Amino acid sequence: MSSAGRIAWVVKIFEGSRMCPVKNSSTPLKLMAVHAHPDDEATSTGGVLARYALAGVQTIVVTCTNGELGDAPGGIKPGADGHDPRTVASIRLAELRTACAHLGVSTLELLGYHDSGMADWDHRHRPDVFCTVPVETAAARITGLIERHRPQVVVSYDVDGTYQHPDHLHAARATARAVELAGIPVKLYSKAHGTTYWRRLREALTQVGVELRGPEPGALESVERRITTSIDVSAVIERKRDALHAHESQLNSSLAAKLPLDLFSYAFGTETYVLTGGVANSALPEVDLFAGVRGGHDDGPTA
Ligand SMILES: [Zn+2]
Repeated sequence: MSSAGRIAWVVKIFEGSRMCPVKNSSTPLKLMAVHAHPDDEATSTGGVLARYALAGVQTIVVTCTNGELGDAPGGIKPGADGHDPRTVASIRLAELRTACAHLGVSTLELLGYHDSGMADWDHRHRPDVFCTVPVETAAARITGLIERHRPQVVVSYDVDGTYQHPDHLHAARATARAVELAGIPVKLYSKAHGTTYWRRLREALTQVGVELRGPEPGALESVERRITTSIDVSAVIERKRDALHAHESQLNSSLAAKLPLDLFSYAFGTETYVLTGGVANSALPEVDLFAGVRGGHDDGPTA
């Protein structure tokens, strides 16, 4: 990025916020990932959680819903015989704890909201589901967690991306608002899947005889252009895969679970993010979520 481009970026992320650069190198490094459902911590951010945990970073997973509207064991869908939302939630929360153990997660925080279901399901209009909870209400709870744990890096989802699950959008909006309310300087990231991610996933699945119909290329190019940060997680790919497989009740619906380790690594060995707010002294593109917060200079891929 040119210096003019970098200045414009710095101005953009500081505009209207109380954020300021993080420079205290004596503070322990902490990474918080805010997710919608049990299993998202593994599929979405499993690589960075495992990689930074191994490097001594404290990792905090916040899971907003109980995942009641996931599959029951055997791939049974909500509304079908054999699908009891309470039982599904208890199974999925147990799986979540196992997955977090694989990823070396320091702290798991459960917000306990009810799953809203997919965008084209009727559940999302119910008054008791997560996506109908006011953003300010959910954000206040996440703010409390940010104030308690004081992470330097917070990760959630890309509201302008191609995955528009109501709970993911709501988690991302609540997280962004929570960071704003906390007034604690953090780098805020959105997990982003662009052209490269989908190409590699398609190629890997082809090898096991699965045809993937991904999002439209135009939408992916737009995401790819916004990616600021690529993290090599190949060294911890087995942990990420083990975490995914810990969510046994959901594997019927998981394309990633069909991949052997080498193809899984090809598809998921790099995690990509968009930096949407944070410290000013991090030059883009980055290869480290903590670039600019390690004593005020970029350390690169040391974690
Ligand atoms: Zn999810």
